[in-house]
Amino acid sequence: MKPKIIRTIAELRHEINHYRLNAGTIKSTVGFVPTMGYLHEGHASLLRRSAADNGLTVLSIFVNPLQFGPNEDLDKYPRDEEHDIRIASQAGTDLIFIPEVKEMYPQRNVTEVTVEEITDRLCGSSRPGHFNGVATVVTKLFNIVQPNRAYFGLKDAQQIAVISRMVRDLNIPVEIVPCPTIRENDGLALSSRNVFLGQEERRQALVLSRTLSKVTDWIAGGMTAPQLIAQIAEEIRREPLADIDYADVLNYPDLSLLPSQLPLQQASGSLIIALAVRFGKTRLIDNRLLIPVEVGEY
Ligand code: AMP
Repeated sequence: MKPKIIRTIAELRHEINHYRLNAGTIKSTVGFVPTMGYLHEGHASLLRRSAADNGLTVLSIFVNPLQFGPNEDLDKYPRDEEHDIRIASQAGTDLIFIPEVKEMYPQRNVTEVTVEEITDRLCGSSRPGHFNGVATVVTKLFNIVQPNRAYFGLKDAQQIAVISRMVRDLNIPVEIVPCPTIRENDGLALSSRNVFLGQEERRQALVLSRTLSKVTDWIAGGMTAPQLIAQIAEEIRREPLADIDYADVLNYPDLSLLPSQLPLQQASGSLIIALAVRFGKTRLIDNRLLIPVEVGEY
């Protein structure tokens, strides 16, 4: 069935209330997938998962000005509503919420949600204010939709860590469901920003996934965190167009530093190897999570 397009908070609340009142007890849960649109197979995988788990799947498409810095790509962020509706429809979406900025922010927000510590490094430090914007809009969307479950991609692993912690700290009654990163056949993580890559930039961007695929061997060779970071940087710099924003290895999900003398093989919990690299004007992120073997690796 074609999803219903909704542009106001009042109408969305009405639709969801109506569903909850009439759904009965079997699968009456609401699944929610927040996005900035220009949907690809990564977003579709979250929507399909939600549709499989829940009776109602709500997608939001909102390019949130609050999470963009002054010199970032807010105005250039790609948009294609027709295309998004088609992808969402094929992935089992029931309601698509596409608010204007003035619907979400009718007046300047004087209230903000701030998550500390987990936002000190990676995108938190390279994009100041970014996670305040994310935490604030996600809180607003959770309050509007009141979903039982919300689906997020591990491509943005720091975002999942921040939102999971926020939900716990503030007792927001939503289950956060992390979903695997979807990639092109050649390894490039899908991203709405990939459309900005020129042909040569696109080719060189493969260095991200290629480098991440080598880290387990380097760790098995006995490297410490500083050694691994140096090795990763050397590998990425072989591509002349690659300009590293950050390359780091941290504990996950608290994103704390590892002792610099410790061979990473001996680290006890989960690790994240996280990369942000510019190719021309396009900044790409990618990461790999290493989870102790009993749990398996994403
Ligand atoms: P965005 O529209 O880029 O803000 O992303 C919306 C949601 O889709 C976030 O939870 C992202 O982590 C997720 N997402 C983006 N790219 C991918 C991908 N390649 N694989 C899986 N999830 C993704």
